[in-house]
Amino acid sequence: MYGEVVSTRQLGSHLVRVVLGGPGLDGFTTTGNADEYVNCYFLPPDAPYAPPFEDEAVRDLPRPQRPRPRRITVRSWDDARRELTLDIAAHGDVGHAGRWATRARPGDRLQLRGPAGGYHPHPDAASYLLVGDESALPAIAACAEAVPEGRPVTAVLEVEDAAGEVPLHSPGVLHVRWVHRTGHADPEGLLADAVRALPPAPGPVSAFVHGEAGATRAVRRVLLGEGVVDEQMLSCSPYWRRGLDDEQWRAVKADWVRALAAEDVTA
Ligand SMILES: Cc1cc2nc3c(=O)[nH]c(=O)nc-3n(C[C@H](O)[C@H](O)[C@H](O)COP(=O)(O)OP(=O)(O)OC[C@H]3O[C@@H](n4cnc5c(N)ncnc54)[C@H](O)[C@@H]3O)c2cc1C
Repeated sequence: MYGEVVSTRQLGSHLVRVVLGGPGLDGFTTTGNADEYVNCYFLPPDAPYAPPFEDEAVRDLPRPQRPRPRRITVRSWDDARRELTLDIAAHGDVGHAGRWATRARPGDRLQLRGPAGGYHPHPDAASYLLVGDESALPAIAACAEAVPEGRPVTAVLEVEDAAGEVPLHSPGVLHVRWVHRTGHADPEGLLADAVRALPPAPGPVSAFVHGEAGATRAVRRVLLGEGVVDEQMLSCSPYWRRGLDDEQWRAVKADWVRALAAEDVTA
């Protein structure tokens, strides 16, 4: 499966919205989940092939020429137009996904696989807490739109500075708290500090904490350690790790997640 870029636009200083369409998406069927994502295959510069390509055709190429898979959330799927919207973090002139998004032009093609994902905001929660950085903003925005009408929703979102803020919408009663990274040499604890400072919310609380691995771990410690959220009402997913690219992160991610699950958060 592949999409052709229909349009792109800057959505805040560090997020690029890419709308994909075309006949290569004929096989796309949405799961309807709020955290739905696709595996996108970004090509290294000078790759001797282009989408659509078969896995077998690229599997035995020298490693530097193979496509780089990256998971990207389905921000929305328009069934009538058969268009897929992705919001991709552009984090300097690094990263296959980020660089591709800043350079994408109408007609460019992106190979995809999926979708997958299995999260929906818990229907029985009394309130919702959504926490993350730009990489999780698309999933958080989708979660905010998927909560039951009238329920309190708090989003705590880390972006570079005020220019990175984007509007969010919800049928719930939405309160957004923006956290700015700029000027902080080590931003790992910023989201956790902001979550710790929130006023108490009606329980049970359903929490969605996705994004940079160290930051999500710090938020998890606050939520579970201080009894804000029951573990079964917490979705916590380390999407990426500062200082590692996605290949390096995937090589250690399973161990990281195992260690996180075994942590004594009351210590
Ligand atoms: C289920 C799932 C859904 C995701 N959805 C989205 C999404 O909708 N949009 C999105 O942008 N990302 C999303 N991500 C995260 C994304 O897959 C990773 O951040 C990926 O590493 C980005 O690839 P890259 O090629 O741009 O950078 P890489 O080549 O992986 O990394 C290059 C350098 O950039 C750093 N880096 C990577 N991501 C970021 C970032 N966000 N901010 C600052 N530095 C970074 C790395 O640590 C590394 O130093 C999702 C991840 C998962 C697991």
